[in-house]
Amino acid sequence: MHVAMCPGSFDPPTNGHLNIIERGLKIFDRLIVAVAVNSAKHPVLTVAERMDLLREIFAQEPRIEVEHFEGLLVTYATQRGVRAILRGIRTMSDYEFESQLALANKAMHPEIETVFMMTEGRYAHVSSTIIKDVIRYGGNAAEMIHPRVEAALQKKLRR
Ligand code: ADP
Repeated sequence: MHVAMCPGSFDPPTNGHLNIIERGLKIFDRLIVAVAVNSAKHPVLTVAERMDLLREIFAQEPRIEVEHFEGLLVTYATQRGVRAILRGIRTMSDYEFESQLALANKAMHPEIETVFMMTEGRYAHVSSTIIKDVIRYGGNAAEMIHPRVEAALQKKLRR
């Protein structure tokens, strides 16, 4: 059984994230989508809201489990017995950040492999940060997020 961890802030989950997860299922038997509890960021959605959205979206996919973790991802992956981390890459700046992260993780846990998946062109510009601004200022983000995610964000950001 090949299992990978798909970690991220997912604040909010975007169609770019969903696409990486769906394509990840073609390579791995099971995926653990791991929502990061990152105290350094100021999230719009709570961890519970992000997990509920991801669980709803993937309700029909028994091979996906949605969890959350605090602290180091490699520690959590080790606890869960997972040896692969799946990350998406959009741009050169993603690559720089992700390669540093992967090397740091490798230095700490050489038995864990990071697998990178290139974004599909139509999601290359999609980021959680941009989506929050689009919704906040009344724009249309329908192409970038699931309708459930859009509804949740509108409730929070357009008061
Ligand atoms: P983090 O805070 O860990 O960067 P994100 O939720 O922003 O978490 O991203 C999680 C993962 O998804 C990262 O590997 C990121 O590069 C990737 N990702 C984000 N947006 C996209 C996208 N549009 N296409 C492909 N991968 C993406």
